[in-house]
Amino acid sequence: MTTTATGPACALPATETAAGGEELWERAWAARRALGPRAVILGHHYQRDEVIAFADVTGDSYLLARRGAAATEAELIVFLGVYFMAEAADVLKQPHQRVVLPDLGAGCHLAETADIYTVRDAWDQMAAALPGRKVIPLTYMNSGADLKAFVGAHGGAVCTSGNAQKAFEWALSEGDAIFFFPDEHLGRNTACRLGMDPSDPLVWNPRIAELGGLTGDALSEAEIVLWKGFCNVHTAFNVRQIEEHRAADPGVRVIVHPECPRPVVEAADEDGSTEYIIRRCEELPAGSSAVIGTDWNLVNRLRLRHPDKRISCLKEDICPCVTMNRIDLPKLTWCLESLAAGDVVNVVEVDEEMRRQGRLALDRMLALG
Ligand code: SF4
Repeated sequence: MTTTATGPACALPATETAAGGEELWERAWAARRALGPRAVILGHHYQRDEVIAFADVTGDSYLLARRGAAATEAELIVFLGVYFMAEAADVLKQPHQRVVLPDLGAGCHLAETADIYTVRDAWDQMAAALPGRKVIPLTYMNSGADLKAFVGAHGGAVCTSGNAQKAFEWALSEGDAIFFFPDEHLGRNTACRLGMDPSDPLVWNPRIAELGGLTGDALSEAEIVLWKGFCNVHTAFNVRQIEEHRAADPGVRVIVHPECPRPVVEAADEDGSTEYIIRRCEELPAGSSAVIGTDWNLVNRLRLRHPDKRISCLKEDICPCVTMNRIDLPKLTWCLESLAAGDVVNVVEVDEEMRRQGRLALDRMLALG
């Protein structure tokens, strides 16, 4: 089973790299207008301003994948996001649609902490160490299509940061234990929402060949085993930053994403998905202040959208997600002009068997409500 991608990872013709911002802006809009309803452009909340302006729909990865499939008049789904998101859109798309990612090198650090070979090996070791125990695999949306297919084929489901608690509850009702990958921190924060102690979940370290560094005895009693993976953006936040913001503004509301480490979530006032964070910023009364622990591009847009509130990033000098930022105006211009000229570049395509099994895992998530 493979995913195929056709097109350059990042190389651009000289006409795009040499052009100035205004010229590119005009060219990109002209190409977008020429494409008309044949294309729908989906933009993840963490994308740069210069490209998110072209999005017909903005949202998190799962919402966008569904909206792409729902835009049935569009034969082209241009995904402004990272690779696993384009794959998910391809899993859910209609048969006549094709998914295009303007930069095929836009990966995700977190998704790449778990590959199918290492996960399969861990699964086999776990099965051998735990005869008779039913383990349900769960994968975060931020994972490759091959991992979603693996989970689908083994009776598990996908989850998002917005429904992880429901997915964990479902999995524990279906089996004896959960094997969750790739984000250790989302997994621990979700376990805590279920009333567990932060130290209860075991952590499988894929860099330790034998049983991920665990023992058979420990595994035989575990309810939750977490893959040792992390997002390099959300692990840049720490408790000291929260303390400094509170010292400067005792009334400030601290809202963080659950990909942050447990101590950060515990020190914050609340945590939730990107959609949750956006909604909470809308709900806060005028004149209030909030610091947000998630990608800087989103926080900056929230700041501009709510001039009546003081919204800032928990770490103002944070480097925005490097892979999300790979899609910029030159690449988008090149991509849209190519599509408008009939050259369908940078197609991301999941093979049929992987699509079928990945869809099973996504449908199980959907069934959670
Ligand atoms: S912010 Fe983190 S999880 Fe999101 S795309 Fe970037 S590396 Fe991946």
